[in-house]
Amino acid sequence: MQTAFTLAQLADPQIYSSEKILRGCVHCGFCTATCPTYVLLGDELDSPRGRIYLIKDMLENERPASAEVVKHIDRCLSCLSCMTTCPSGVHYMHLVDHAREHIEKTYRRPPFDRAMRNLLVRVLPDLTLFRAAVVMGLVFRPLAPVLKAIGLRRMAAMLRLTPRYRPSPPVERTGKVYRAQSACRGRVALLSGCINPVLAPLTNEAAIRLLNRNGVEVVVAAGEACCGSLAHHMGHEQQALTQARNNIDAWTREIEGAGLDAILVTVSGCGSTLKDYEFMLRSDRDYASKAARISRLAKDITEYLAALDIPAQTAPRPLTVAYHSACSLQHGQKVTQAPKELLCKSGFMVKDVPEGHLCCGSAGTYNILQPALADRLRDRKVANIEGLKPDVIAAGNIGCITQIAAGTAIPVVHTVELLDWATGGPVPEALTRSRRKELTG
Ligand code: SF4
Ligand code: SF4
Repeated sequence: MQTAFTLAQLADPQIYSSEKILRGCVHCGFCTATCPTYVLLGDELDSPRGRIYLIKDMLENERPASAEVVKHIDRCLSCLSCMTTCPSGVHYMHLVDHAREHIEKTYRRPPFDRAMRNLLVRVLPDLTLFRAAVVMGLVFRPLAPVLKAIGLRRMAAMLRLTPRYRPSPPVERTGKVYRAQSACRGRVALLSGCINPVLAPLTNEAAIRLLNRNGVEVVVAAGEACCGSLAHHMGHEQQALTQARNNIDAWTREIEGAGLDAILVTVSGCGSTLKDYEFMLRSDRDYASKAARISRLAKDITEYLAALDIPAQTAPRPLTVAYHSACSLQHGQKVTQAPKELLCKSGFMVKDVPEGHLCCGSAGTYNILQPALADRLRDRKVANIEGLKPDVIAAGNIGCITQIAAGTAIPVVHTVELLDWATGGPVPEALTRSRRKELTG
């Protein structure tokens, strides 16, 4: 694609990298076929190619974002399916991240939209506020249909995503070290994060047991918190960079102390952001090289486990597992085989979900901010999964787990919970809950 940025514009490092991305696009349109919003809406402006044109026009002409541009960029899930499909290697993720930041700087959203976004970006990364919000959600969940009926779809979506059951009590892990149970084969940091400890504290518990059992020492670095992913994808760049620097400092202390072989993540959305710290902080003289080191060490937990060569197991129960590949894992990090191979090796029968490249509609805060599209994607995903008649659904991202669980009675668990169970850990909580329900009718 030809561009017409001036030399003065190109002196801005963000414009410089976006211009390189734009020039890589040859308008072939292959990406449109695998873009969920184009598949649903059939509008070129809701396809990757259409959005690329909108972003080019906005940046090249230094135009403030218009309501029309915002509408189409907001509808993008940042699922990155288009990056997997693109034969020219167009880095759409960095381009749309730039566009979202430009929108936040130049566009004044309607008051309710602004308030909702500010609420999400303030509450979700804060463990105390988020925990309080979940408890409130449990109480008010029955009101979701009423809110939807009176047009408050986003509030209704938020309530519907609240778990049906009170999550297990939180465990304070930051600053703790979990020793290997056998000869030590490695030392890793595990990202505790912000959503997981509230909605699914048992996931990291399973991950720690699994790693310890296989000879890996685990530390949850003192001072670590939200990775910045939520703020980053909502265009709140300064908040995202502050959160990234905070975590980089926490892990750098560990690297320079007892040392780290890897930084492991059980929420693939956060894993993609950690792997992008190098790019996000490339112009920060104090943090660029530290950020690059963190990005090199960042791994999805299944990537690390696959390299450990864990012995084959017989599954505790012969279950059929539908493996849902989170977009941030398959498109963002290109981790596709490791989770399935680990599950097979643990004795489970694993089935791929048809249309597996299409997002489930979770996409960070998308299922709250774009509930109509998110619901359509979830229903399509659930229909594809239920067609497989699985006993359980496994995924590597809390966002997908919550989104899919809101649309089906089949239990949804994190991949590491099944791996932990197969190697001596407890039955995953979602399975015991569904078993209890079966027995009690
Ligand atoms: S597939 Fe790649 S090169 Fe082709 S239109 Fe889409 S982004 Fe551009
Ligand atoms: S990130 Fe996903 S929704 Fe956005 S343009 Fe690419 S394929 Fe479409």
